[in-house]
Amino acid sequence: MKLKIAILAGDGIGPEVTREAVNILKAVAEFGGHDFSFTEALIGGVAITAEGAPLPKQTIDIALDSDAVLLGAVGDNKFNHLTPDKRPEAGLLQIRQVLGGYANLRPCLAFAALGDNSPLRREVTKGVDILFVRELLGGLYFGQPRWWNKETGEAVNTMRYTKDEVLRVGRVAFELARKRRKKLTQVDKANVLECSQLWRATIDELKADYPDVTVEHQLVDSMAMHLMNIPRNFDVVLTENLFGDILSDESGIITGSLGMLPSATLGGKVNLYEPVHGSAPDIAGQGKANPLGAILTAAMLLRHSAGLEEDALAIEAAVDKVLGAGHRTSDIARGGAAANATTHEMGRLVHSALSESIDKQQSLHAV
Ligand code: NAD
Repeated sequence: MKLKIAILAGDGIGPEVTREAVNILKAVAEFGGHDFSFTEALIGGVAITAEGAPLPKQTIDIALDSDAVLLGAVGDNKFNHLTPDKRPEAGLLQIRQVLGGYANLRPCLAFAALGDNSPLRREVTKGVDILFVRELLGGLYFGQPRWWNKETGEAVNTMRYTKDEVLRVGRVAFELARKRRKKLTQVDKANVLECSQLWRATIDELKADYPDVTVEHQLVDSMAMHLMNIPRNFDVVLTENLFGDILSDESGIITGSLGMLPSATLGGKVNLYEPVHGSAPDIAGQGKANPLGAILTAAMLLRHSAGLEEDALAIEAAVDKVLGAGHRTSDIARGGAAANATTHEMGRLVHSALSESIDKQQSLHAV
């Protein structure tokens, strides 16, 4: 299998965690005899410093010429004085628009070994396996008009959706639910917002095509509470852009750390893969970043852009094994566990767990 992967490591801990994810992809290529190529390009603060823009044209060209884009994180406090359209984060919104992916998949999987890591009780988080499907190209983040008049002290953002935008992401969510536990929870604020009423009506219409999937609707405010109370009740959770951003970050509480959460954005010209967390300037350059979110993101890349489901599962199992053996970066060193691994050590441990499991599989095939 041949795969051209664009690497946009970005700022802060972005390069640190991306390096570990790339090492895992290289291992999969080597073990499986695949031909993966990696081309690095600039995005975010490093791109502003080098090229004067958060998303240089060369980066766009490299991304569009690839089969998948793996992104680290963007954001650097030294650019906080710039207007939003010039800051590193603008590069992220722009690359999402350029690539055109509208379905942002954010799995929230409670690893058994981290059961005491969450502030929630082990009985609450045990066995949680939620897949958030967040609409990524519409809603408040992109709606026009948008402005802030500092003179009058008034600001406007616009939440706008079309039925087609809801249908296309809705289909992705139904298809995924079909392959999982066949339950879809659509989250909105339909008691107040017309946009949410459009979402609800459209999903109700679409469910006729998926009679095997159970559909429920939840208001976003009570959903925020249910997620912390009864997270096991949820399978696929479908939301518009802003609600999905907030709820999926909240779900970091279940996994124990934001550093554990991967994501994939599908449906556009090229799929985009990025851990959910940001550039974490507070820990950048200290070897403290948890690379597991980025490594699990690499697994999603193999699953959704290469069809290498077995390799994706092997990476997820390797992460589970390393956590089960008690290895912890500082963000997940709670519940009695000590921080005993740097970013690179954690990456190396997953690499060796993966090599061992692949060696075992190969010798089983050989028997
Ligand atoms: P953040 O996700 O960077 O950090 C939030 C907290 O989680 C921090 O305490 C951080 O140390 C910790 N954390 C995050 N990832 C971690 C990891 N892998 N391992 C260990 N700890 C981790 O969010 P923030 O502090 O709100 O934002 C920092 C910068 O990142 C800002 O400039 C923001 O705009 C940007 N940001 C970028 C993205 C992205 O690139 N996708 C997402 C969110 C925020």
